[in-house]
Formats: sequence, structure tokens, C-alpha cells
Amino acid sequence: MALIIGNWKMNGLKAGLAEAKKVAEGAKPGDQLVICPPATLIMAMSEALAGSNVLLGGQDCHAKESGAHTGRVSAEMIADAGATYCIVGHSECRDELRDDDDVLAGKVEAILRAGLVPVFCVGESLETREAAKAESFVKGQLELVHGIADRVIVAYEPIWAIGTGKVPSTDDIAAMHQSMRDYLGEKTPLLYGGSVKPSNAAEILSVPHVGGALVGGASLKAEDFLGIARAA
Ligand code: PEP
Repeated sequence: MALIIGNWKMNGLKAGLAEAKKVAEGAKPGDQLVICPPATLIMAMSEALAGSNVLLGGQDCHAKESGAHTGRVSAEMIADAGATYCIVGHSECRDELRDDDDVLAGKVEAILRAGLVPVFCVGESLETREAAKAESFVKGQLELVHGIADRVIVAYEPIWAIGTGKVPSTDDIAAMHQSMRDYLGEKTPLLYGGSVKPSNAAEILSVPHVGGALVGGASLKAEDFLGIARAA
């Protein structure tokens, strides 16, 4: 069964918990579903999902456990709120927070320290893909988790496919996932992310080595998110 992780990004007020409840009610036994809400909703969503098989994740964290880091959230806080997973290295964080490999190494370490599973995001820009350097670029990003390949989930998210409605060809997704599998070995679950929706999920999830999806926009409505789960 595929692992489907919803990344709500900076979306969702209390009223949005109703969608999470609908996902919890609609999830079938054996579904592997995760919702990563904004930090303000984690505790409430933990309660909303209680008793269901839908798990909770954070979207990012600080490398430190606690301290003078105004506005930030630690991996321990995310775990304490009831989460199991934490996204790290999302292209929006690499861009907006200027997260480089050193920062990301600290965050991955923190996520493991807190007992959470890191969902480590990688992916190339359009420029890099057009220069036929996507696989070598992604391999470079993966160096950071190569030594802990059996403790992370990797999400391949081409930056140009995030929130754009554009999706790589299944041949390109297959080639990238084969390349990641060759580099990381058999133990790392590999996800695809970038404009996944109910109508294209079955095709994407049938690509060899694609073990699930990281879903942004289409995770905000229970109907769409469950539609992707059903396609899996
Ligand atoms: C994401 O941000 O992780 C993502 C995959 O977004 P979307 O599904 O909206 O492209």
C-alpha cells in the first residue's frame, strides 16, 4: 500500500479541521495516510485524527531542542504534539529559509533524535532538468542521507512541478526513482511529489520504485486526498 502524505503548507484555520476529520472517517483499513498541517493546528489535528489510521506530521523543524529561537518549532515539540513524521528540505524551505546542507543535516538529526521519521525532499529546477543534470543534482542532495538510508523517507519533488500542474513524464519519474534506488539501496521508501491529484495518481503510483506521494494542493480537500488514496 502506498504512503500518501499531505502537506498543507501555510494553509488551514480551525475550520479546516473538518477536512482532516473527513479524511479520518474516509480512510480504509490499511491506508497509509499522513497529514502535515501548519504548526498552529498540530495539537488540534492530533485530537481530530485520534482513533483513526491517519497519522500526523510536521512541515519543518529547528535543529535545536529548545531555546532562544523566536518563531521556530523544534522536532521535540512536533513529536510531543502527536506527530510521527516531519518533512525536511522542502524546496520552499530551502528557498525561503535558505536551508543549506549544513542546516538540513542538523534538522534531520533533530528529527531522528525526537523519534520522528524524516521525509527528506529533493528535486531539481527546470534549468537543471533542461541541462540534463537532474539525476546528478538529486544524487548530490541525497548524499546527506546516504548514511541513514534505512531511517528516512525520500520525496522526489521537481521544483518546477510543485503547484504548477506540470508533471514529469512517467519515463522521467521512473528514471529518477531508479537512480535514487541505485544510490540509496532497497530500504528507503521513495515518494513522488509535484502536482499529484486524483486523476494522475494511479499512473504516477504505478511507476517502479514510487512507493507513495507527497501531496500539496490536493491534500487540502478530503475528497481529493482520499481520491489519491483510492488510486493507490
Ligand atoms: C509540495 O509542496 O510538496 C507539493 C507536492 O505541492 P503540490 O502537490 O501542490 O504540487
